[in-house]
Amino acid sequence: MSTHPWIDVAVQTPAHSQIGGLLSYRCPFAVTPGQLVRVPLGKREVLGVVWAVSDAAPADMPASAVRDATGLLEGLPPLDAAWRQLVQFSAQYYQRSLGEVALSALPPQLRDLSSEQLARRLKKQTQAAAIEVQAGPALSEEQQTVLAQMQANPGPFLLFGSTGSGKTEVYLQAVERVLQADPQAQALLMVPEINLTPQLEARVQARFGVDAVVSMHSGMTPAQRLKGWLSAHAGHARIVLGTRMAIFASMPHLKLIVVDEEHDPSYKQQEGARYSARDLAVYRGRLQNAQVLLASATPSLESWHLSRPADEGGRYLRLHMPSRIGTGLLPKVRRVDMNHQAKKAVLSAPLLAALQERVERGEQCMLLLNRRGYAPVLHCADCGWKSECKHCSAFRVFHKIDRTLRCHHCGLTERVPRACPECGNADIAPIGRGTEQLEEHLGELLAHVLRPDGSPIRIARIDADTTRLKGALESQLASVHSGEVDILVGTQMIAKGHDFRRITLVAAVNPDTALFSSDFRAPERLFALLMQAAGRAGREASQSATSEMWVQTFHPTHPLFEALKKHDYPAFAASELAERTAADLPPISHQALLRADARSQDVAQGLLNAARETLEAQLSADPATADLVLQVSVYPAVPMSMQRVADVERAQMLLESPSRMALQKMLWHLHGVLHQLRSQPEHKGVIRWLVDVDPQAI
Ligand code: ADP
Ligand code: ZN
Ligand code: ZN
Repeated sequence: MSTHPWIDVAVQTPAHSQIGGLLSYRCPFAVTPGQLVRVPLGKREVLGVVWAVSDAAPADMPASAVRDATGLLEGLPPLDAAWRQLVQFSAQYYQRSLGEVALSALPPQLRDLSSEQLARRLKKQTQAAAIEVQAGPALSEEQQTVLAQMQANPGPFLLFGSTGSGKTEVYLQAVERVLQADPQAQALLMVPEINLTPQLEARVQARFGVDAVVSMHSGMTPAQRLKGWLSAHAGHARIVLGTRMAIFASMPHLKLIVVDEEHDPSYKQQEGARYSARDLAVYRGRLQNAQVLLASATPSLESWHLSRPADEGGRYLRLHMPSRIGTGLLPKVRRVDMNHQAKKAVLSAPLLAALQERVERGEQCMLLLNRRGYAPVLHCADCGWKSECKHCSAFRVFHKIDRTLRCHHCGLTERVPRACPECGNADIAPIGRGTEQLEEHLGELLAHVLRPDGSPIRIARIDADTTRLKGALESQLASVHSGEVDILVGTQMIAKGHDFRRITLVAAVNPDTALFSSDFRAPERLFALLMQAAGRAGREASQSATSEMWVQTFHPTHPLFEALKKHDYPAFAASELAERTAADLPPISHQALLRADARSQDVAQGLLNAARETLEAQLSADPATADLVLQVSVYPAVPMSMQRVADVERAQMLLESPSRMALQKMLWHLHGVLHQLRSQPEHKGVIRWLVDVDPQAI
């Protein structure tokens, strides 16, 4: 390590700062890139990552203006080049400052650590943990084939496997193979939401030993985060199990990345750098020469498209596990045509009868409704008043349990008025229904139903309202597992991943809204949700022959439900892709959104439209960039579909291109234009702007 007097350091800077988050310092001590240093920033001292070292003074400022770095965090192995490249790429691709991405990828407590404290903590961590391997079950033929393909090919892989086909076992054996082959190797296992899968954590620990595994997710304390991060960084932890944030874990010996439920929207970060952890997994795999396995029973259309045959341009290798483990069959799908049911019936007569029959046999059922609360809106039939939120373009939801009206966007909560606030009519009533009302309704309709031992039926609800308190979800899930619940009512929260053994009937109460949504991904989401939900039924092989998935719909012959009935994801994907192709939508094209927030729509849209006009004028005038205008469509600004939240008006502008590269270039120019425009008086009213690359909803 030689002394270079000048260093560039990544520090936390404002999101859109033009300096890109790198600042120059003079360094009185020896450093290498990737080390952590303390540097002055304004009046503060902050932690930064050394990005580059140089013998030449920075060209863009007088040497006398450059300040001195003040300290080095000694004893910490440098963040390696691959990690720095991952951060740099993410910052560029998602249009944020390098410093923001780099620093938010580090555990916050690192800032408060002295070199001595660090030395103490790292003492036992630099030795790779030994893995104890409890043997797994003998593999099914499909599992064996998949693992053999992974051994014979570099990847990336898309594992398309039915729910219950034993994908998790494939991950564990792939991890085992990689860790056995190299005593230092590390593996990253990513899941959408870790608090929903406590079983997985236990399963991984049981298989490989508690010492070899660390978790990374937002529910951990700062101290736990630091400990896990140091362990992975120093090479002790062999397996990191985490949510999207774990994609930035420093893992110098990374050899395998698994992305479970790769279609899940929660892999996309929705603030700051809006990265897709799934997409970064593929990028990181290439950087570190690690194998990448994406897996799902309902892959994202992006990954499905990328795993088409290589001679058609596919870049991922598709692996297939169609069968459930054991003799387990997939549940029979039954559609109830709601056109033939009593008007306004929430639960159709045949579904009610089926629920009763199952409960009387001692089986469990699950009802899905994608709206929490009691009713989505309160309404006065006399004057037409509705329970709008005064701060948002949304209705406040009626929660009967505490008689409140709550806005699910800004949180505004008020007691339900006794009478209509507009005309005084005392007869205000809820319209529509949420999970709370469904639970109540079901309790009334099935009150007479008895369980096999003669005891009364037990109905429970799980949604964001019932699980607010820490530990509430776990205890509620446990009561379902232990059989204390006969019918479980809930939002999509309960459809994901849980290995409920005794559920034999799952019903979607009102899935139709997603069929006609303005969001082109709504059908894809609905199909994934229903397939997931169906996967909850009949996981016990002995019961799978009679297990059922019910769908109540006014459109029983809709192709989505036809495909669901056959459990035919490929057919659904093919028809969806044909529509996307015809409309030039992702994954055929690539999108980015520019968003602006202001007190008025005019001001918000004003910035976006000015950016669009300036951009087109600038690019067209220069022969070197004129092509870009043709390659990237930039649409006029429009209000967002959730137009107003907490009194802030939100507008967006869509950019679309068949070429990712062209889109990236356009965004780069756009960034410059926005900096010019923001300093102009007519745009001073803009509260913030941001770019969302590969947005999940437009
Ligand atoms: P998936 O992740 O595809 O939904 P899992 O990996 O959870 O499926 O497997 C479903 C069930 O089958 C689990 O209880 C698992 O322990 C069991 N299982 C998986 N592979 C095997 C196997 N080869 N032999 C016996 N049981 C298995
Ligand atoms: Zn009224
Ligand atoms: Zn509100």
